Amino acid sequence: MSAASALPIVDGATRLFGIIGDPIAQVGSPRLYTERFRAAGRNAILVPFHILPDRFEETVRGLKALANLDGLVITVPYKARILPFVDRLLAMGEKVGAINVMRRDRDGRWTGDMFDGRGLVEAVRRAGHKLAGRRVMLIGAGGVGSAIAVAVSEAGAASITIADTQPARAAALAERVARLFPACRASSGAPTAEGHDMVINASPVGMAAGDGMPAALGPLEPSTVAFDVVVKTEPTAFIRHARSFGCRAFSGYAMMEPQVDEAIAFLDGPT
Ligand code: NAD
Repeated sequence: MSAASALPIVDGATRLFGIIGDPIAQVGSPRLYTERFRAAGRNAILVPFHILPDRFEETVRGLKALANLDGLVITVPYKARILPFVDRLLAMGEKVGAINVMRRDRDGRWTGDMFDGRGLVEAVRRAGHKLAGRRVMLIGAGGVGSAIAVAVSEAGAASITIADTQPARAAALAERVARLFPACRASSGAPTAEGHDMVINASPVGMAAGDGMPAALGPLEPSTVAFDVVVKTEPTAFIRHARSFGCRAFSGYAMMEPQVDEAIAFLDGPT
């Protein structure tokens, strides 16, 4: 009998994990994490908690008070708003200024960290591509864009150009990266593939049916790596554009598995 089939679906001893967000029905984490817990022979489930913005603080306080809740995954729009609820912030969470996972430690304190950007770095690495020395064009300087900017710079990117339809966001993120990673040339600018050998779409463009490109990027070199964070089974316009030039193109699914691997290792290791 496998470890998973010996487990009850759920019983009184089941340990709880949650994902919090608004909206919540679209998230894949409950299945992804619960399958992984069961495969490891762990009597634990991860369930979705829909928290409305005007009930955020009281709901998080209540969740943290549950004695059988061991951790939370945090999604849009709460990755920065959750920060006051952790007692310890690990390095990546601190650098990004947001977290997507928090766990209860043995001393009862809560520790948080950010895995979004590391998932992308690890997906690219597992596919045999190097991040070191890359000249990165990043489109979108929101939650996931910020995590990616920090993670690719930390992984040794030579430069990063950041574009956002809200230019102040791109400028602030470029300043943050420049301060944290002086060896990486960080700037904000117009979106273009020219002069870059990695192009990342970290904007939501591509999610809605009928969405086109996030920006007119122009031609890509075949050696350019393209990464679209949008999670969709059919290729987005950006992925189709990259493939038409013979580029290796990754979808948002590619960063999810390594992200869950790292997040589970973190949830498994309360100190
Ligand atoms: P967000 O709202 O925090 O940030 C999006 C940013 O994109 C904003 O700053 C916005 O101004 C900018 N933007 C919008 N259109 C643009 C355009 N055409 N050009 C340049 N910038 C543009 O959202 P987020 O939380 O960062 O999420 C972004 C996307 O990433 C969503 O589609 C989300 O589903 C996806 N996501 C994927 C994963 C994954 O594991 N694959 C993880 C987290 C988020």
